[in-house]
Amino acid sequence: MISANIPNSVRKAIYKRDGYRCALCDSNRGLQIHHVMKRSQGGSNSPHNLITLCMYCHNTIHGTRFPDCPDYMTPVELHEACIEYLADFYAPDWYPWEEGEP
Ligand SMILES: [Zn+2]
Ligand SMILES: [Zn+2]
Repeated sequence: MISANIPNSVRKAIYKRDGYRCALCDSNRGLQIHHVMKRSQGGSNSPHNLITLCMYCHNTIHGTRFPDCPDYMTPVELHEACIEYLADFYAPDWYPWEEGEP
């Protein structure tokens, strides 16, 4: 899902935090912001839940692969790698969900 509801200021902060590169493969091709926890699963629009991905990783994590996508990770592995990246970054207080959720 394209995350059209993220304010531009937050978007910029995420790109900056991740060094204007894909957090998973270091590519800078077609950078996009991904919600690690889906909005439908209570994921927030906070930086704790947002990560910079290149178009290849982003499409792969959503189950669509480009023909020339290096297929070294499955969507599940990519998802877990996102969680690891953010949990490490914000440790020990990583909280990607909306405030007030259990
Ligand atoms: Zn990537
Ligand atoms: Zn996404």
